[in-house]
Amino acid sequence: LPPHLVRVRFAPSPTGNLHVGGARTALFNWLYARNQGGYFIIRIEDTDQARSSRASELAVLRDLRWLGLDWDEGPAYPDEPTTEPYRGERGPYRQSERSAIYEAAAAKLIESGAVYPCFCTEEQLERKRRLAEAEHRAPQYDGTCRDADPALIRKRLQRGDPYTLRFRVPAGTRVEIRDVIRGDIAWDANATIGDFIIVRSSGLPVYNFCVAVDDALMGITTVIRAEEHLTNTLRQALILDALGYDRPQYAHVSLILGADRQKLSKRHGATSIDQYAREGFLPEAMMNYLALLGWNDGTEREIYSVEELIKAFSLDRITKSAAVFDANKLRWM
Ligand code: GLU
Repeated sequence: LPPHLVRVRFAPSPTGNLHVGGARTALFNWLYARNQGGYFIIRIEDTDQARSSRASELAVLRDLRWLGLDWDEGPAYPDEPTTEPYRGERGPYRQSERSAIYEAAAAKLIESGAVYPCFCTEEQLERKRRLAEAEHRAPQYDGTCRDADPALIRKRLQRGDPYTLRFRVPAGTRVEIRDVIRGDIAWDANATIGDFIIVRSSGLPVYNFCVAVDDALMGITTVIRAEEHLTNTLRQALILDALGYDRPQYAHVSLILGADRQKLSKRHGATSIDQYAREGFLPEAMMNYLALLGWNDGTEREIYSVEELIKAFSLDRITKSAAVFDANKLRWM
């Protein structure tokens, strides 16, 4: 790929409907890609099988399409239901279909010593957490298995004891990112998160591990997502570094609040996109409204066509402060 080519992704977890916040994240990614002549990829983050459903996935894709967002690549779905309007030939990636890729990446980290097997059981970890809490210590992993005797580790592996893979975060590990929206951010990674699990004892990779691997292998150049993912960014940056991949550029978008400046929720009226679609709202009006939730072109302008939004959009005009979603205002557009 030419290095200048922008590749961004929207990565919904298919656990419910597409909400205003997710739709805005998707839109910012899409506008950026279209403005830059780059790629907009959809990646379904469905490794949490218990919470994910195919129905939610299809609903999210349907709502993205309603909004007017098209995506650029991905494998076809062999089992595509024909009743849903769905563009199968450019269907999105699914993490649940990529386990061999995560296994290979985990093997690489085992090889380099970036991770170690941790035999601590859930009960032991819970006890440690409670003890740390009682002693007013950080709840970080205490390093029992990190510092274990290699002979003992071999014995336990041979015996087939269940283990998780834990990522080593040595004391003094500093991680710095330059966020397009929030500026420079620095963490003491050991004090903030400590050693963290990347593969569960069931063999399932954890969410942050999949995201880091996928962002690297999919050539993602800029990660635009909600600011609640900032501590995930810390974990993902560590994983990317350990795998020898370049980190993407990050743009963490601020929260969306309700008209009363509280975190947006059902109390504030309809928050899922399909409610507006069913009520008969025009997708162009919705897109226009969402684009201005935390972005402006430096003027007071409020009405844009889709083409005008694409032309005007830039990451450096995304606002750092929270945006306010006002369903009433949307109704009057
Ligand atoms: N799957 C995550 C979510 O739905 C998105 C994570 C990301 O954009 O990196 O919140």
